[in-house]
Amino acid sequence: MPDLSTPVQFIKGIGQQRAKSLEKLGITTLRDLISWFPRRYEDRRHACPIAALVPGETACVEAMVAAEPTVSRIRKGMELVKVRAVDESGVLDVTFFNQTWLKNSLRPGETYIFCGRAEGTGSHRKMVSPVVEPEGRREVTGRIVPVYPLTAGISQLVLRRAVRQGLDACAAILPDTLPDPVRREHQLCRIGYAYENIHFPTDETALDLSRRRLAFEELFFFAIGLRTLRRRREVVRVPPCGAADMAPFFAALPFSLTSAQRRCVEEALGDMSSGVPMNRLCQGDVGSGKTMVAAACVYYLVKNGRQAAMMAPTEILAQQHYAGLAPLLEPLGIRCALLTGSLPAAEKRAVSARLAAGEADFAVGTHALLTGGVAFRDLGLVVTDEQHRFGVAQRAALAEKGAHPHILVMSATPIPRTLALILYGDLDVSIIDQLPPGRQKIDTSAVSGGYRRRIYDFLRRQIQEGRQAYIVCPAVEENEEAPDERKAVTAYAKTLQQEIFPDLRVAYVHGKMKPREKEAVMTAFSQGETDILVSTTVIEVGVDVPNATVMVVENAERFGLSQLHQLRGRVGRGVHKSYCVLISDSRSEETRARLKIMTKTSDGFQIAEEDLRLRGPGDFFGQRQHGLPGLRVADIGCDAALLKEAQGAAERLLEEDPELSSCPAAAERAAELFAQAAESMN
Ligand code: ADP
Ligand code: MG
Repeated sequence: MPDLSTPVQFIKGIGQQRAKSLEKLGITTLRDLISWFPRRYEDRRHACPIAALVPGETACVEAMVAAEPTVSRIRKGMELVKVRAVDESGVLDVTFFNQTWLKNSLRPGETYIFCGRAEGTGSHRKMVSPVVEPEGRREVTGRIVPVYPLTAGISQLVLRRAVRQGLDACAAILPDTLPDPVRREHQLCRIGYAYENIHFPTDETALDLSRRRLAFEELFFFAIGLRTLRRRREVVRVPPCGAADMAPFFAALPFSLTSAQRRCVEEALGDMSSGVPMNRLCQGDVGSGKTMVAAACVYYLVKNGRQAAMMAPTEILAQQHYAGLAPLLEPLGIRCALLTGSLPAAEKRAVSARLAAGEADFAVGTHALLTGGVAFRDLGLVVTDEQHRFGVAQRAALAEKGAHPHILVMSATPIPRTLALILYGDLDVSIIDQLPPGRQKIDTSAVSGGYRRRIYDFLRRQIQEGRQAYIVCPAVEENEEAPDERKAVTAYAKTLQQEIFPDLRVAYVHGKMKPREKEAVMTAFSQGETDILVSTTVIEVGVDVPNATVMVVENAERFGLSQLHQLRGRVGRGVHKSYCVLISDSRSEETRARLKIMTKTSDGFQIAEEDLRLRGPGDFFGQRQHGLPGLRVADIGCDAALLKEAQGAAERLLEEDPELSSCPAAAERAAELFAQAAESMN
């Protein structure tokens, strides 16, 4: 008797060979297999008379093979099977490539279903390589057919059959993980029905019902997992920080903190003196002054006799933080150290030794902080900047260098509040919703490529006034799999340098350059040695060059709004008036509306809400980043109402039955998900 953890190779009809193919998709167990949900569906339920076929559109016809198929070899390794099919309305010529076996299986006088793209009109209608199936078989035609995400070496047909076998194998053993009362109260279908119909829906209604049930289930267990994580966290106790006098720190700042910054500092200091490890996300728009909030925390903790570390995603950011913070903190008696990958080995060792001996209080660095050789005497606070750039494992690795250190995660990606609650349900959230005074609005315009000349003239004038500019261009999409950013950037930079700005200094940077090369280009730019920097989005993260006043984005339609907002945040960081120009030749109404939002508002949260509404959370975070455990069906962007319902249900259940002892299947599922969630959410 199989269960859901049975390896797929033991499922009847699958075997070792298939199992190997499936493994490429990450499918190893029966549960993986039946949870490999279709990406979309093709409705092949209805046959269309041949005469009614519309050229260019995909359709199914039910037609009789009129004569023996013919085979011809058009060149070596390429054989063509041609067959004529007829129905009452007309004639259809069908061609197949390299499917010679069809010659014998398509029998004159028998009726088959052909599904494919129709071409031609009148008596010249044809289909090339349609899906074909004898009438009445209904495996790949005559029904709604699932279309799965695939990888090379495995076909839709193989996957469909495997899923079919999987569903048959577990029909009798699928445990209904949702407690029955919950299922009934929220009018959700049973689990067997849901799995059957999410793969092989009998009709739209069945599909909707199944989807709703599975999405609800995911969100329900997600909510339960988060609650459990929170409760776990509360059990850990650490020695609370005692009050430290913050006055010298505030007095040393060249400005006074905004009230939003002060609130965040208070919240974080409150956490650190509570006796429970801080686990806080500090969210603030670009330029809102997150670094100072972190600095205040560092000061407070070090004055409590412990050590702090700040990890930045790039070398240049680490250096910038160090250059900004050391002159502030050193005079206050905090011994600072910089630890990045590019330091000579001897120096790295020296810094590590100081940290291990407690002779340095505060380490700023990159991933280099995570290396095995680095140890702290008493690491009490870990700050990670621009957290979405770090894998969870990396954050966890740094935290492990201390005993339950306080954690402060700083993010410049404004996340809509609803989403933050879910994504960071395990973190407390502080929001810096105010910019320091005197910030000027960045003039933003969205234009078509026809304006490029004028934009270049404008750039030139700005540079003549002593300013600098960024030009961002997205990767060239030669094929979807491997967009080539290098080519786009280098080619564009070359054209600019040679044809447009021969007298100016143009440099470029892209993600495929070696860190050291990147570093050198960025440093030259920040020291004013180049005028125009052509780049991919590598400059998106926290780079601070106050003299740069123009941000030009090519093919702006390819970026998400939040990303554009981040890019725009690279200018307007100094005293000079700054500009952002979004160039797009897209004619889509939707794109224009999207870009228009950028010209209308500079509020990162508002932009994020729009982005979420328009693109959904997957795109919002980038597939890899959102890392929501177990959410395959539910879409937090669209299923907001369902989320509320599921959260409510989870809370009520946990209140009545905190250990879920009344529903063992649910308890088991929650435990499984908890193990995954703990991994991906700190
Ligand atoms: P981000 O939130 O993007 O990390 P930073 O911490 O880099 O922002 O701050 C952006 C700039 O604003 C820095 O030059 C910083 O010194 C300055 N700054 C921060 N807080 C204030 C404030 N309260 N008043 C004036 N300037 C500030
Ligand atoms: Mg920052």
